[in-house]
Amino acid sequence: MEPNSRIAIIGVIVSQEIKKVVIAGGGTSGWCTAVALSKQFGKLLDITLIESEEIGTVGVGEATFPTICTFHRMHGIDEREFLQATGGSIKLGISFENWARRGDRYIHSFGTIGQSSWLGDFHNILCAAREYGYDAQLDDFCFELQAAKHHKFAIMQSPKLNYAYHFDAGRYARFLRRLSEQNGVKRVEGKIVEVKQNADTGFIEAVTLASGARIEGDFFIDCTGFGGLLIEKTLQAGYEHWGQWLRNDSAVALQTEFSGDLPPYTRAIAHESGWQWKIPLQHRQGTGHVYSSAYISDEDARNTLLNNLDGDIRVELRLLKFHTGRRKKAWIKNCVAIGLAGGFVEPLESTSIHLIQIGIARLLQLFPFAGCCESLANRYNEQSRVEYERIRDFIVLHYKATERDDTPYWRDCRDMEIPDSLAQRIELFKEAGIVYMNPEEVFRIDSWLQVMLGQRIKQQRYHHFPHAMDRAQMIASLDKYKNDLAAAVRKIPSHGEFLKDYCPMKWD
Ligand SMILES: Cc1cc2nc3c(=O)[nH]c(=O)nc-3n(C[C@H](O)[C@H](O)[C@H](O)COP(=O)(O)OP(=O)(O)OC[C@H]3O[C@@H](n4cnc5c(N)ncnc54)[C@H](O)[C@@H]3O)c2cc1C
Repeated sequence: MEPNSRIAIIGVIVSQEIKKVVIAGGGTSGWCTAVALSKQFGKLLDITLIESEEIGTVGVGEATFPTICTFHRMHGIDEREFLQATGGSIKLGISFENWARRGDRYIHSFGTIGQSSWLGDFHNILCAAREYGYDAQLDDFCFELQAAKHHKFAIMQSPKLNYAYHFDAGRYARFLRRLSEQNGVKRVEGKIVEVKQNADTGFIEAVTLASGARIEGDFFIDCTGFGGLLIEKTLQAGYEHWGQWLRNDSAVALQTEFSGDLPPYTRAIAHESGWQWKIPLQHRQGTGHVYSSAYISDEDARNTLLNNLDGDIRVELRLLKFHTGRRKKAWIKNCVAIGLAGGFVEPLESTSIHLIQIGIARLLQLFPFAGCCESLANRYNEQSRVEYERIRDFIVLHYKATERDDTPYWRDCRDMEIPDSLAQRIELFKEAGIVYMNPEEVFRIDSWLQVMLGQRIKQQRYHHFPHAMDRAQMIASLDKYKNDLAAAVRKIPSHGEFLKDYCPMKWD
């Protein structure tokens, strides 16, 4: 076969070289895909994005994970411009309130806690020091946690703060659209009403819009949101539901005024049958109540939200329904689903945009220029499955490890069966104080540790390697570490001052 042939035959699959890419959908996932694809392969591909103003976007999704900073750097997105355009703020972690018990509060920060040894993690050293009578908490050894508690932030090299962002989702999509169009992406406004498949191969050949326009492509990226117009309605990927572990299936969301000291973290406040997010931006606050409709009516959930607001309502309520789980296959034939079209794990740890961006990175690495083949799709799907499952386990941990028994919702969460992969992890921590991070996992040891302890899981033992160290030296270096961190936090500006100086919002 000629190397430059338009048609390649791979096994039984007939696929053509990929030149023309169609992105269906223009929410966060559509425009993130467009900006990345056009930045890296704009010279090789002809990229069209179709979106429908009539349908609109999900309109939420404003808290992120630190991998977004890498995504932005990889695709040349300027941090200041991005924060100015989106009214963005800094996120150092999440404040969990009322989770293990009513009145509890802990911060799951993005930071590293203390200095670990290759023999074991820092928390073992602190356990040993405490046995010697040393009085300190894990929080005292984490820069991000201390900065978050004091509402402070600065971009610095040493010590360095690991951070993510909060932003206005509508503004983010518009910002990415501008960059994508500068890179040559063509945007088409219209509603897709038909998806045309090749009669022999089942590959998607074109989509038809309500206007009658037909848009052809070699490769299609489904960013159409929960409905999965291409991946599910056309290619019937199937969906794996995780409702037995993650019961929430609904949310009411709104935007309020916000004044006062801007915290550099998201708040996740547990209520009777769900939880409420509070996301502070420069110009407003986003808030919403995520809940299970099996335990509370939409009306009561709405009232819970209205009774727990900090400021006047700016934008009215929006009711969202969802199924937690993932598409059994995210890549089928010549179509890949990115974003909500590919799956959704509820937003407790703000992992959706991370999954979008990691999915895009993987797609770029596996991009089928010479034609689609099953081995590429299999590789993509397997990695995607593992990433989703690891995140699922981490989120389930927050619900399972609770002492709350004040409502049927919390009792059922506490008593539920959990995936073996998570059960084994909890057992290992309880029995031996060991925490670990798997390959392809986004949550590091420090994350598992902060949440396990924050959820009041009690470790019965710890590793004794610190007892082989010199006791006086160990205590002295702990003290120095703690005091240096406290001094570093005192020196940096407040989060509000940082934003005003570095990236004040630009209204468009
Ligand atoms: C309650 C809730 C809270 C969340 N909070 C967070 C969070 O804090 N952090 C986080 O990372 N994620 C969060 N998420 C997830 C996040 O909102 C999404 O991952 C993100 O917005 C991406 O959505 P999307 O682009 O895949 O879909 P959508 O925003 O739904 O966009 C779909 C696009 O497809 C278009 N479209 C659909 N059908 C057609 C058609 N027939 N023809 C043409 N165009 C069509 C639409 O017009 C739209 O442009 C949250 C989700 C929910 C439900």
